[in-house]
Amino acid sequence: MRGIRYDFHIHSALSPCGDADMTPNNIVNMARVAGLDIIALTDHNSCQNCPALLEAAQRVGLPALAGMELCTREEIHVVCLFPCLCHALDFDRYVYEHLPDIQNKPEIYGEQCIMDADDNIIVTEHKLLLNATDIPIDGLSSFVSGFHGVCFPAHIDKTSYSALSVLGFLTPDMGFTAAEVAYPTRFTPASPLVPEGMRILTNSDAHYLWDIGCKEAYLEERLPDFSSIADYILGSSF
Ligand SMILES: [Zn+2]
Ligand SMILES: [Zn+2]
Repeated sequence: MRGIRYDFHIHSALSPCGDADMTPNNIVNMARVAGLDIIALTDHNSCQNCPALLEAAQRVGLPALAGMELCTREEIHVVCLFPCLCHALDFDRYVYEHLPDIQNKPEIYGEQCIMDADDNIIVTEHKLLLNATDIPIDGLSSFVSGFHGVCFPAHIDKTSYSALSVLGFLTPDMGFTAAEVAYPTRFTPASPLVPEGMRILTNSDAHYLWDIGCKEAYLEERLPDFSSIADYILGSSF
């Protein structure tokens, strides 16, 4: 029996680089078509479309997590996942205050759309969500756990906005027990740049509907609730 097929890194139309078709219901329906068992919505520096996504997912019985792809002070992307909307939105408020007050340019990035569960645009976000926050990567793992969440560095094998491209390494004292790789077939887990025992995850980082579920990845056979996901991510061997 196969494990739980996941995709914990998906962007909606709220992300400046997210396609306008990435509405809550389109994401949910594409996830079902792709055979995913659980998804997470992780827009850049925002959880504001998580309420709509979670409601749309609940309507069709698809487990979904509220999340965010945080951009740290060092311009490192980190995927953060939360057990419920309230903690995600608490984190969202904190992050918003730590984003520079630079306005979106819709003619370049498109509108940053906050939607309801029927895909109606409620409001557009004017602060550009793509920028780095002033939140450091040092201590981030425990900071996110203070919001009852878990986090892992995103696409560490990419050449930009990744822990390895910016810092050159990941060490155990950074507190991360998992990391996401974008190209799992090319990545060597025994790399000396990554701590031994680190859980390697892979997600689509979808910005377009057709990307959702493009990376085939499974959790071990467990119930798809948040504590089991968090245990999986935190359950490294070091
Ligand atoms: Zn990223
Ligand atoms: Zn992303």
